[in-house]
Amino acid sequence: MNEQIITVQSISKSFGENTSPLQVLEDLSLNLNKGESLGLVGASGSGKSTLLHIICGLEQPDAGKIVIKNVNITDLNADERSLFRSKEVGFVYQFHHLLPDLTAIENIALPAMLAGIKKEEAFEISASLLDQVNLNHKEKNRPNELSGGERQRVAIARAMSNNPSCLIMDEPTGNLDTKNVENFMDLLLEMVSSREIALIIATHDNNVSSRLDRLLSLE
Ligand code: ADP
Ligand code: MG
Repeated sequence: MNEQIITVQSISKSFGENTSPLQVLEDLSLNLNKGESLGLVGASGSGKSTLLHIICGLEQPDAGKIVIKNVNITDLNADERSLFRSKEVGFVYQFHHLLPDLTAIENIALPAMLAGIKKEEAFEISASLLDQVNLNHKEKNRPNELSGGERQRVAIARAMSNNPSCLIMDEPTGNLDTKNVENFMDLLLEMVSSREIALIIATHDNNVSSRLDRLLSLE
C-alpha cells in the first residue's frame, strides 16, 4: 500500500538574470512515499539546499511543479504556501535555528501553535516529543544550555510538533560527532517510521546516507 506524499515533477531552477544564468537544477523529478527516506548527496554547490527549499515552497522553481499530499504547492500564492508548510512540513537545518530566548519545550511547542493547535495541547505534544528524544529532563533549558547533540534532538522534536507528513533536513548532522550522529539517526528513523513520514535529508555524512532507503546524487 504505497501512498505518494511528495512528487517533484520536472523541476528546473537557475539563478541570475544576466547573459549567463547559473543553471542549478534541470528537469529533475522524484517521488517519495509515506514512510520512505531519501538522501540528497553531491558536492557543495550542487543544488541540494535549493532543491529542498523548492520542495517545501520556500523558493519557487522556474519550471515544473511540486505536489505534496495531492496539493500542487507551486500553484499556491506565498501566503497559502506558508500556511500549507506550517501544517504539513517539518524543516531541520545544520545549525539548529532554535529561538535563544525560549526553553526547549517552548521551542518545540511553537510550530504546533503556529499550525493552529491550542497552547495546552501543544505543550502536551511537546512534552511527549521531548520524552521521545530523551530530553524530558532538559525541558526548561534554553538552547545555550544544551550540547550540540541535544540541540539537534530538540530541533527534530520541533520539526515534528505540527505532526508533518514530510520532514526536510539540510545537513542536520554537520556539527555532530560520530556518536551523536548515530544517536540522532536512531531517534529520527524510529520517529519517522512510526509516524510514516516521508523524509528527505541533504547530507555529506556516510553515517547518515547509509541508513536511508534511497539516495539521489546531484551534480
Ligand atoms: P548545496 O546545498 O548543494 O551546497 P545550493 O543549493 O546552496 O547547493 O547552491 C547551488 C548553487 O546555486 C550554488 O552555486 C549557489 O551559489 C547558487 N545559489 C543558491 N542560492 C542562490 C541565490 N539565492 N542566488 C544566486 N545563486 C544562488
Ligand atoms: Mg546546502
